[in-house]
Amino acid sequence: MSSAGRMPLASSFDPARTLVLATRNEHKVHELRQILGEVVDELGLTIIGAGQLSGAPDVAETEVTFEGNARLKAVALAEATGLPSVADDSGLAVEVLGGSPGVFSARWSGRFGGGDSAARGDRDRANLELLLDQVADVPPAHRQAAFVCAAVLAMPSGDVDVVTGRVTGALAYEPMGTNGFGYDPVFVPDGGSRSLAQYTVVEKNAISHRGRAFRAMVPPRPPRGADGVRLTGGVLTALPALSRTADPTEPPVTGSAAAAASEAA
Ligand code: IMP
Repeated sequence: MSSAGRMPLASSFDPARTLVLATRNEHKVHELRQILGEVVDELGLTIIGAGQLSGAPDVAETEVTFEGNARLKAVALAEATGLPSVADDSGLAVEVLGGSPGVFSARWSGRFGGGDSAARGDRDRANLELLLDQVADVPPAHRQAAFVCAAVLAMPSGDVDVVTGRVTGALAYEPMGTNGFGYDPVFVPDGGSRSLAQYTVVEKNAISHRGRAFRAMVPPRPPRGADGVRLTGGVLTALPALSRTADPTEPPVTGSAAAAASEAA
């Protein structure tokens, strides 16, 4: 451990069994561990946050697409750590606003920063209030929106894979509920009447854009106790710990094909 209580870059991690997530937000690391669930246990994967490594790069989100920003962060982290790295970028796309706030979701009200959770809460509230004002007179039939997430796996070799996840719904007129964060209180997923801030964590992970994107990275589960396990599909088969058992005659499904397969499932 360094004097800051963080480990030196990548020194004590096995690149075949470690994933670094490009975030300093421990909540997101926990969420990824939960979503990857059984794969983490069965294959002995270690998932760490960039915040646990001293010297992990802070990358500005200068691209104008979710995929572009996620790619920037994942590639920079893989280069700096020599470890397989995952980054995501997400936001809310409102149809009547032409897809905005989109990649500007975190700073839609013009407020930057948000290092600690109190500052993030203030910023989230300002963003949400501005958005509600902007669509105050838009009728229910035109309030469609979607949360979108692009997740990128970057390997130290330079290989990069991208998956995306979406959840569609409509904007409410007033905030509802206190769970979650960001725009959750005003987003009502299709087919329901509650906002995402009225969902439990488990309910939200099951349908959320991030849940869908991260699950699309995971190879389909082999039957329990099966010999000669074949893991194909899901960009995580790029990890040596998983590809070791993959069938070399059958190329893994990656990128948008994997996302489409998961969405169709
Ligand atoms: P990031 O991907 O963590 O940078 O998220 C960017 C912004 O999009 C956040 O600050 C939120 O405003 C919004 N956002 C992303 N995912 C969610 C979500 O699951 N619920 C609510 N807001 C979200």
